[in-house]
Amino acid sequence: MRRKLAAGNWKMNGLGTAQDELRAIAATPTRQTDLLICPPSTLLERAAIVASDTPLEIGGQDCHANPTGAHTGDISAEMLADCGASYVILGHSERRTDHNESNAQVAAKTLAAWTSGLTAVVCLGESLKERQSGQTLDVITAQLAGSLPDGATGENTVVAYEPIWAIGTGLVPEIAQIDEVHTILRAELVKRFGVMTGDAIRLLYGGSVKPDNAAEIFAVPNVDGALVGGASLKSHDFKAIIDAL
Ligand code: 13P
Repeated sequence: MRRKLAAGNWKMNGLGTAQDELRAIAATPTRQTDLLICPPSTLLERAAIVASDTPLEIGGQDCHANPTGAHTGDISAEMLADCGASYVILGHSERRTDHNESNAQVAAKTLAAWTSGLTAVVCLGESLKERQSGQTLDVITAQLAGSLPDGATGENTVVAYEPIWAIGTGLVPEIAQIDEVHTILRAELVKRFGVMTGDAIRLLYGGSVKPDNAAEIFAVPNVDGALVGGASLKSHDFKAIIDAL
């Protein structure tokens, strides 16, 4: 049985005052749901203090593939772990677009995350052009194959399907479209890693998840939770999404 995961990606949002929202999220009763917030790196250490002794886990939004070195502005997986993070988002479409990250780079970062004991939340998703030209399944299977190194397990890896055109737009795929992609992703994971492992890796949906559409999305069999952007910044909205799980 895969545990549900409600994950928040705060992106480049949040100052010290955001700790109040974090405190409220950390106090959410969760039953069978894991809770994760990935704040900007400037807040990681403070977030880890707020989250200590609560069910809330803290994660980074990216890491470098190398453990140390001359990489100005970058953060290593070991540094994230040192701040109290237990997860890291990798290959988010905003990183793939803004920083030209390739599948191979995402795979290298994933290995680095595992080496430091972090669970990698590996993101993939098609653009609107790819969706409209019928390439979605080819794109996501290629991204999955290229971004996940050998050695993925249900503990060290989560996969997040985030159609680029649904991120921050209020547009959400039809339920049948989410179902189709998640079914293919599950089948690809089982084919590559075997039934036990392929079935254990959690699949999140991300892209305009809100309190009013969460329950419908979470009812899809291979949706094991959500990676939430905007609605994770307000504890009230994020709690409603957690409740829907
Ligand atoms: P929104 O929930 O704001 O659409 O963002 C989704 C996302 O990119 C999470 O990583």
